[in-house]
Parts: sequence; structure tokens; C-alpha cells
Amino acid sequence: MADKNSRLRNLPSVSALLEAPILRDAAQQFGQAVVSKTARQAIDKLREELMSGVITDEESLSVERFATRISRHLILQESSKLQSVINATGILLHTGLGRAPLPHAAIEAITETAAGYANVELDLESGDRRRRSVHVADLLCELTGAEAAHVVNNNAGATALVLAALATGREVIVSHGELIEIGGGYRLPEVMETFGAKLHPVGTTNKTRISDYEAAITGETGAVLVVHTSNYAIRGFTESPPLQQIAEVSHRHNLPFVHDIGSGALIDFAQFGCHSEPVAADSIRAGADLALFSGDKLLGGPQAGIIVGGQQWIERIVAHPLNRALRVDKTTLAALRAILQLYRLPEQAVTCIPLLRMLQTPVEELQTRTEKIARALGDQMTQWKVDVQKDEAYLGGGSIPDQAVPSWSVSMRSNVLGVNALAVTLRTSVPSVIPRIHNNQLLINLRSVYPEQDEALVDAVTKAALILNHESHE
Ligand SMILES: *Cc1c(COP(=O)(O)O)cnc(C)c1O
Repeated sequence: MADKNSRLRNLPSVSALLEAPILRDAAQQFGQAVVSKTARQAIDKLREELMSGVITDEESLSVERFATRISRHLILQESSKLQSVINATGILLHTGLGRAPLPHAAIEAITETAAGYANVELDLESGDRRRRSVHVADLLCELTGAEAAHVVNNNAGATALVLAALATGREVIVSHGELIEIGGGYRLPEVMETFGAKLHPVGTTNKTRISDYEAAITGETGAVLVVHTSNYAIRGFTESPPLQQIAEVSHRHNLPFVHDIGSGALIDFAQFGCHSEPVAADSIRAGADLALFSGDKLLGGPQAGIIVGGQQWIERIVAHPLNRALRVDKTTLAALRAILQLYRLPEQAVTCIPLLRMLQTPVEELQTRTEKIARALGDQMTQWKVDVQKDEAYLGGGSIPDQAVPSWSVSMRSNVLGVNALAVTLRTSVPSVIPRIHNNQLLINLRSVYPEQDEALVDAVTKAALILNHESHE
């Protein structure tokens, strides 16, 4: 007991730790506040460990050793902040990896707009104030055939705003089969409740008929909503009426027909082998009064929620107080405009927008790159069996999960070293590489990797394997 007490008395003080050269250096790099805080937390933790008897070795109490530990912890903590990574998961729109990478035109537009002032809400000719979405509304209308357009922070925000503006205190008719939950606990019924709309589900999970919609409409109805079931599919005996019929019934009752199309393709994705992605223009053509979609899914742009549709509805939405809380900044507008311009010439969009370029890369090209990478790695990674294999890539980002695009992967396995350890080392290396693990193999899927990254990828994997090798010999 006395032993424990004397150890507690010998705990290094915060001020002594902060005097250690290694932590003075850390303070120069990260600032005094975070170093002090980390040191205090580390001492508290050490005190607990001493009390509970987890630590008995006197060595861990030396200022020098303790300061080194804190410094390592700080470096790790600071380097795990936002940074660019190589996406080797084969999931092209990975929400955890920031969804769509932007094309050069968008990056240039962001850089130029971000560096100075811009006419975000100023009409240069009249000098009057005007709404900021004018910078993209013309292009959105041109590309979707809609009368008017508006942009907010993301599609979840677009849905919330539309419900708040059109259906507070009123009923919204939705098919049972479309009561979706998407990533991050976003559940449509709960979103509706939050924004004061009353959900009126119609039909059944697999079959909803036009007569179900018709029968549900009363004086209480505020809108008819169709949600693209982007992240799941109901198969077998299913039925849902064509959009045209839903539009016709809605309009007969003077109700807005709102279509949440989710991903928001501006061109037909069937050309890439993805057949169930709705195109925004089709939704407007079918009679939707409002179509809502994300900017950073199939459109391949910045995070945004895009609302296109009839002028009268857009006006009501823009006038709602919630609109102000969801507004986009100038860099989003700049990036979005640059990307929409690319879509004016679809062949240009396909070559310039990274998402589309990665999707349309011929599978033979991926095979060639995979083989080259595997050869380079095989020469260096002596403890590993490096191979290539046919694989599949996915759109991701809440789009349908069973729609695979052919791909190739480099596979690595080892009888001596763990694939999980290699994955951790890769993720925490610079540049960070995000692989996938399947059947006890580490897979590097090339569909989501830019060809310009191949060399850095080989370097990172080689280095990670070396680090593991050293650690296993320690
Ligand atoms: C992805 C998705 C959303 C949410 O869009 P965010 O831009 O991620 O907020 C809403 N509805 C559907 C159908 C979706 O697929």
C-alpha cells in the first residue's frame, strides 16, 4: 500500500512534463493548449492505472518516457484528422470517404471563388440583391426540363424543407414500400414527424396501386410523395403505378407531386451497366412538381440538395424560414455550376467527371493495371502471396447495393502476418490507403483508384508490409 502511495506521489507534474523538450516541440507544432490538455489527461489515466494496480513498473513514471508517450499520442491524434486517402474499396460513392471526387473544372472554380469576393447574392447589372441559387438554376432547368430550381445543403435538407414548406400540419401520402431508412439513421417517417407533416402510408410493402393513392386523398392531404428506394429493392410480385398516373391523380386534386429520386442522375446510367437509376429529366417529364436529389451522388459533384420543379412550388419553398438554415456557400455553387456546364456535352461529362470516368474505364484496363501493381508488390513483399483476381465494384452512396460493375483487385494474403494488421498500417500510412478485407485476403480494388495513384499505392503497400515485417521481428 505504501508502495502505491509513494508511486502516486512520484507522478510527474503537468509543468514538469511541459518542460520536456519533446513536448516543447509538440507545443510549437500543435499549440500549447492541446499539449497541456493531453498531458493532464495522460496523468489522470496513469493515476487511475496506479490506483487499480494495472501499472506496477516504476519506469513508466519517468518524465522522459511519459513525455515521449504523450508526444506519440499527439502525433497520431493530429494525423488522423481530415486528409485525402486512396479509395481502394471499389465503392465509387463511399459516404465515409466523402462520396464523389470533383473534376478539375470544379476545383478551379472553387479555388477562384474561395480566394476572394464573389457576386453570390448581388446582381451586377442592377446592383440589387437576389437569391444565390440563380448561379445554377438556369443550368439545372436546361438539364432537367424543369421550370425552376433551388439548391440547399443536401438531399435530406431538401426533403425536410419541402415537407416543412408544403405539408406542415397536413398529410403526406407515401407508399408503404417506400418508407426508407438511409445511412446515419435518417428515417423518412421520423423526418416527416420532425417537420410537422403527417405520414399517410398507402398500399402494402410490395404492391401499391393508383387506386390506393386516390382513395387516401382527403381535405387533409398536403402532398403526394414518391421516394426512390435507392438502397434496397423489393423483388417478386411487386406493383407500383407509373409516375405519370400518380402525377395525374395529384394534379386532379390540386396537390403537389414530390419525387425524391435520391441519386439524381442527369444522364442515363444504363450506358455503364447500371439499370435502375432514375434520371432527373424523366421525373419532370412524367409530371413531378418537384424532384429532389443529391449533388454528390451520381451527379458526381459537391454535397448539395437539388430541388427542381414548378415555379410556384419553388417560390413557396424559398420563402420558408428553414431555407435560410440550409443554404449553400459560394464554393458549392461554383463547383456545381462548373459540373453542370460539363453536362451540357454528355461526352465531355463522361471524360471529365471522375465518377463517370471511373465507371466507364474498360475492365481490361483495370486488369492490366492490377497485374502491373501485383508484379511490383510481389517482388517486394516476401512474406505475402500477392495475386490478382476478378472482382466487383459498386456505386455506393445509397444507390442500389446489388448492382455490381466488373472490376479487378490485387489480393494479398500471408501465413505469417495478419491482413487486419496490414489494413490498419495502410489506413494510417501517408498517403492513407483504404482497402477491403474478404475471405482473409486484403483486396485493393482498382475501379475506384485513379491511374495517377498507382505508383503511390505501390509505395504505400510496400512500406506498410515492411513496417509489419519489422514489428513482427521485434
Ligand atoms: C441519399 C438519399 C437521400 C439523402 O441525400 P443526402 O444528399 O445524402 O442528404 C434522400 N433520399 C434518397 C432516396 C436517397 O437516396
